[in-house]
Amino acid sequence: MMGFLHSDFDSIIENMINAFAYHKIIIDAAGNPIDYEFIEVNKAFESFTGLKRDFVVGKRVTEVITDIKSDPFNWIDFYGKVALKGISASIEQYSNVLKRWYLINAYSPQKEYFITVFIDISNIKQRENELCEKNDELSQLYEEITASEEELRVQVEELDTLSKRLAKSESRLNRAQAIAHVGNWEIDLMSGQIWGSEEAFKLYGLERKTPFLPLKTVQTIVHPQDRPTLDQALKLLIEQKEKYDVEFRIIRPDNGEERYMHSVAELEIDSNGRQVSVLGVIRDITERTVYERELKSKNEELSSLYEEIMASEEELRQQLDEIQAHREQLLLSKERYKILVNNSKDIIYSYDGEGVFTAVNHMFCEVFGVSEHEAIGKKISQVIDDSDYVKKCNEARVQVCNTLSPCYFQNAYTMKDGTLRHYDITLSPVFDGKRRIVGVTGTNHDMTEIRKNQKLIRHMAYHDPLTGLANRTLLKDRLNTAIVMAKRMGMSIAVAFIDLDNFKKVNDTLGHVVGDELLIDASKRIQFCVREYDTVSRLSGDEFCIIIQSINQQVQVDVLPIMERINTIFCQPFEIDGHSIRLTASIGISIYPHDGETVGELLRNADTAMYKAKELGRNTYCFFNNKMRDELVRKTNIERMLRKALENNEFLLYYQPQYETKTGQLRGFEALIRWNSAEAGFMSPADFIPIAEETGLIVEIGQWVLNTACRLCKKIENKYQKSIIISVNISPIQLRHKEFINMVLDAVKLSEISFCKLELEITENHFIDNADEAIGILKKLREAGIRIALDDFGTGYSSLSYLKKLPINLLKIDKSFIDEIDCQSVQQSLTSSIITLVHNLNIETIAEGIETYEQYEYLLESKCDNLQGYYLGKPVPEHLVDEVIKNHWKV
Ligand code: C2E
Ligand code: CA
Ligand code: CA
Repeated sequence: MMGFLHSDFDSIIENMINAFAYHKIIIDAAGNPIDYEFIEVNKAFESFTGLKRDFVVGKRVTEVITDIKSDPFNWIDFYGKVALKGISASIEQYSNVLKRWYLINAYSPQKEYFITVFIDISNIKQRENELCEKNDELSQLYEEITASEEELRVQVEELDTLSKRLAKSESRLNRAQAIAHVGNWEIDLMSGQIWGSEEAFKLYGLERKTPFLPLKTVQTIVHPQDRPTLDQALKLLIEQKEKYDVEFRIIRPDNGEERYMHSVAELEIDSNGRQVSVLGVIRDITERTVYERELKSKNEELSSLYEEIMASEEELRQQLDEIQAHREQLLLSKERYKILVNNSKDIIYSYDGEGVFTAVNHMFCEVFGVSEHEAIGKKISQVIDDSDYVKKCNEARVQVCNTLSPCYFQNAYTMKDGTLRHYDITLSPVFDGKRRIVGVTGTNHDMTEIRKNQKLIRHMAYHDPLTGLANRTLLKDRLNTAIVMAKRMGMSIAVAFIDLDNFKKVNDTLGHVVGDELLIDASKRIQFCVREYDTVSRLSGDEFCIIIQSINQQVQVDVLPIMERINTIFCQPFEIDGHSIRLTASIGISIYPHDGETVGELLRNADTAMYKAKELGRNTYCFFNNKMRDELVRKTNIERMLRKALENNEFLLYYQPQYETKTGQLRGFEALIRWNSAEAGFMSPADFIPIAEETGLIVEIGQWVLNTACRLCKKIENKYQKSIIISVNISPIQLRHKEFINMVLDAVKLSEISFCKLELEITENHFIDNADEAIGILKKLREAGIRIALDDFGTGYSSLSYLKKLPINLLKIDKSFIDEIDCQSVQQSLTSSIITLVHNLNIETIAEGIETYEQYEYLLESKCDNLQGYYLGKPVPEHLVDEVIKNHWKV
């Protein structure tokens, strides 16, 4: 019923005999009470006030009792004090409006709230009023009696009459007192005797044999605890004329009952101002007191209950606050979580145990083209179209539910526009507090771009970006696989190494853009020549390699046609950017298992064969053979020894004399290197110079030659006071070195010879790759005064007209021309023609390799300017140079 209370307590209040009402005070802006509201009332309230609960609850008192403000007692103010100041109040009050008396106890359990517990005491009040009226009457009677007694004393003769009247009055009084349960008494202060009315005796439980009693007797009846109060009151009345109005208990001697008494008394003073007696009335107030006591204890009980309620309410409120705080935190973290989830690039969602969506994020909606509203509450198959995707997801979800552990898998979803998205998916179980699975959460991480990139990276890792051909890594991989297969099947593999012969020149002259185009076109031509299942790869700049698989035991059948095709197709010029470019290919071939059983061996040997092909003349192919292998071994050994030779001082120079034809004078010496290897013994420069060139060691060796030769030149000059020319052979590799000019000039300066005494022998090979650069360098040296000779003239392919461009002082006619002189051939007359033509170009000539008198004579006649050869003098070591000079100058 009360709602806000415990149900037990509800029923206590509900069934209380006291009226109970719970109110809230209404205040105005200034905080003054102006009304109050009924929050709850009990049954007793209804019966005490005649106001029905349903009518009053929720209403204001001014609505329930419209004329309450006209009541002289200001109820609202009264209750206002209770509710606002928290003071309890107890009052007996007549309600003009309800026309009843009430004994009201009011408390405030909480500011602005108050409880009234009350009973209707209209009946008691009525009786009390009657009693008072009767008392008044009684008092009047007393006065009358007193007056009568005075008269009696004075007028004895009228005693009888008065006595009768008195008796009548007494009996009337007794009757009245019996009716009202009020007794009266009188203490004669002179005698200390107490007089009591019949009703007084009855109230005291005494037998009234005589109306007089000693005061003592009465005092013994009074409860010992209350006696001092009573005595004090009497004393104060008599001594200080204070009001006598006491409540006390008696213990009735007739039945031992404890009764509560209320007594009021006055002092009687005679005409002389003497205190004569004390007149009092007594009333038994036991019922009222007990009732009051009960009420009080009930109220106390109520109050303590209220306190308890208040306390537990406080506790509840604290808990509520805590819960509220938790709830707010929860909401906040939920909100944060939601933002996180919704901003995620991953698709995030959750299902319940049945596979029905319970949450999805923005990405989910975006990818699957549904709204959150459309997805939630539906199964995946109702939301997503792609049946393969759905099937895989459902299987994984069932797995998670069965294993109670997360499941990772990959899945692809075909979007509405047809594009395929790849996802790495994680499904995880969701448990409740008792570790029971209640759902599954999922995240899809989009791997589409990563996959695409991975594919690209993989492709880039294995392919040449320019031509799109396999790169070295992929080639090795494929070759490895091919070897394994071939081994099992007893088949052969051919590895063809292709080098574009003059690509570098094209690249340098026409630029990289054209070079790149050329490589692309060349790669296409190569691909065109092979079978579809053969691997074509680009290894570096202008190097390609082909794997020709599962060939017959007869190599020629499969491989030769391919090689022929390549050579043929490369004969046609490439048309790029308006240029018609001739490009040839040198191919070296190695065969598995004949030429090697490993990738490394096969590639190495094909490379070796390719170099051989280059040596054989370009645009051709060459199969690897054992001789090449031996050659390779030899070269490798020489290279190893060469690296130590300089340190070990294994090199020395021989000097071959050159003579002026006209005068027969010694012109100078050609310095020719010799190597007395500690390991391999004496070795010809023809054998080790090419290797020194390949390895670059020639630069250092050449520097040593220059310095040594120049030093000798200076020694001769110093010794004989005559200067001769020293000729030094220069390799194209040396010339290309960026420090070459300085190296030459340093050698001259260091030896302190004149620049014009040093002659550099170069060959036409120097001009093959980069003629302009070579010419530039030589021009600079010539400007410094250094002489330049063109060695081995006639072995290359340059024309005489080409000579005009070269900054040379001397042309060395190759031994092959000189050899022809003896045999009366066409070559013979050619030699003298060359000499004549070269002279026209203002270039001196020298013939080398003169071995016979005939040759000598012929050259003499042909006006060749200088001569060199075994016939005139073999190359000699330094210690024999002196002899050559001495002998000659003796001549
Ligand atoms: P080359 O510059 O043509 O040198 C001439 C070669 O012919 C030398 O061989 C010389 O000994 C040889 N020779 C000279 N007169 C005759 C003759 O009447 N009959 C015959 N049969 N041969 C003759 P060598 O010293 O073995 O040199 C071979 C090549 O090695 C040289 O050819 C040169 O190209 C190269 N060479 C020698 N020394 C050096 C050097 O210090 N530096 C460089 N870069 N190359 C060198
Ligand atoms: Ca030479
Ligand atoms: Ca030569």
